[in-house]
Amino acid sequence: MWNSRSHFWKGVSSLIPNNRKALIAGNWKMYKTIAETEAFFTEVAPLVKGVTHCEVVIAPPFTALRRAAELAESVGISIGAQDLHWEKEGAWTGAISATIIRETGATFTIVGHSERRQFFGETDQSVNKKIGAALSAGLRAIVCIGETLQERETGQTEAVLNRQLVNGLAGLTEPEFSPIIVAYEPVWAIGTGRTATPEIAQQAHCFIRGCVGQIVSPTVARGLRILYGGSVKPDNIRGLMEQPDIDGALVGGASLQAKSFASIVHYQVMEAAKF
Ligand code: PEP
Repeated sequence: MWNSRSHFWKGVSSLIPNNRKALIAGNWKMYKTIAETEAFFTEVAPLVKGVTHCEVVIAPPFTALRRAAELAESVGISIGAQDLHWEKEGAWTGAISATIIRETGATFTIVGHSERRQFFGETDQSVNKKIGAALSAGLRAIVCIGETLQERETGQTEAVLNRQLVNGLAGLTEPEFSPIIVAYEPVWAIGTGRTATPEIAQQAHCFIRGCVGQIVSPTVARGLRILYGGSVKPDNIRGLMEQPDIDGALVGGASLQAKSFASIVHYQVMEAAKF
């Protein structure tokens, strides 16, 4: 069943077959001016140009989106925002809509990052509205979910992930899933240097895929790209990418340096590519 926002994604679903294309995304958080963005792209361009084994996305601050989109085009990198508001426009001081993001040339947005949930009152319900707004404007959404340390230690990981998926993805039709990517980001691993082991991450990814199979459909679950995020570095990406349900990474700190980000992008040739 197609609704008003589905037309953007007709045909896109066939581009994401069950052999899922890997995606490496960098989340710059509140780092980098426009000048620093330019310096990053000058350095990263020769290191990642021509990469075809994975999609590459960078999410700079809002203020650098347009310049990043200009610079990224010839390198084959896509640009994403780190957040958006669910309304198209209005009296929402300080907020940025999907339409405004789209105008910069960005084609992705992160939704529901744990820092937004922890520090800015993001809820599963606001995540759900933001996903709808992103899709309506033709933006792909990287939807973040993940448990806190306390939730993991008290055995609530699966319940939390299931709740975030059920509520966050509520009301979406099957075709609307082609531009959606889920990022599993255990909160205890973000910016802490404490990565989930490949086995722990795989277990969570497998669980997430199973949930999506139940909530939406097995076909959507098979085609859904699930990224891992949480202290991903050049020296741990390969083990993570070897897991069958890990389709890429959302990288914070290590995406700020062109060389370390490029090393992560080249996860499959890590031994050969010492940047
Ligand atoms: C993130 O910002 O999504 C993230 C995973 O950060 P880091 O890689 O620094 O842990």
